[in-house]
Amino acid sequence: MKLRTIKTTVYAREFQMGSMRVKQPLPSRHAEQVSPFILLHHAGPTPVEAGRPSARISPHPHRGFEPVTFVFSGKIHHRDSLGNEGFLQAGDVQWMTAGRGVIHSEGPSEQFAAEGGIMEIVQLWINLPRKDKMTAPRYQDIPSSLIPQMEMAGGKWKLKVVAGEFMLEKGPAKTFSPIQAVMIEFEAGATVQLPVPQNFNTMIYVLDGKLEVNEQPVAHRNMVEFANDGDAIQLTSVEKGKMLFLAGEPINEPLVSYGPFVMNTQEEIQQAVLDYETGKMGNLDF
Ligand code: MN
Repeated sequence: MKLRTIKTTVYAREFQMGSMRVKQPLPSRHAEQVSPFILLHHAGPTPVEAGRPSARISPHPHRGFEPVTFVFSGKIHHRDSLGNEGFLQAGDVQWMTAGRGVIHSEGPSEQFAAEGGIMEIVQLWINLPRKDKMTAPRYQDIPSSLIPQMEMAGGKWKLKVVAGEFMLEKGPAKTFSPIQAVMIEFEAGATVQLPVPQNFNTMIYVLDGKLEVNEQPVAHRNMVEFANDGDAIQLTSVEKGKMLFLAGEPINEPLVSYGPFVMNTQEEIQQAVLDYETGKMGNLDF
């Protein structure tokens, strides 16, 4: 196997989004996209006091991509205009296809707000190929129990394959373009090599802990985008932590995004705004 070199390392900037602090390594001025991955938000870990009123992100639309939520800690209550309702907890994944349009809302569940605890999630936006942007919206609720787990380095690395074929496992998420998405926890002091298809763009995001990538230290809150110059990446765990591994076949099409809509042309964006305003993406009360 030939090891990939690092293309860019991005330290995520942090900002306030509604009631949440959010770290955003992608997009950034160092990496506009790692196609098909177009946005990554890391919220938390945030301690939430028991009995605080639940702060929901109010109903809003999406079109043209897939918003995917990985829950690392806490409990989420999701609703959408298709009538789906989901309760997610640590280890669960929600894989939504916005397609031609959906309206959704999410936030800590009432149970979590009552009990309190630590909230930590990642939301990832995955682009859709032009031919699938107006597909029917779809909702995949993927509980942790359905996600195959594997171990490497004598159990120091624990991997959960959410999407794609990865080593000997296959993730449950259905995707529109070839993608690998893996949630990973690591203990200190072990080196692993993860295989990647030659033509896939590849990135990792470190939520917590510390790694060495090709002998370069990479601490939490950093994203690494790899060059497409090999068929594996090598990671050494320096301090216990967790990360996301994401790889996918690039979608080489023009990208025009505006707020919650990700399309190919300006005209399609205007149409999305119009369709939302005229109620064609459905309705959701809270
Ligand atoms: Mn959303």
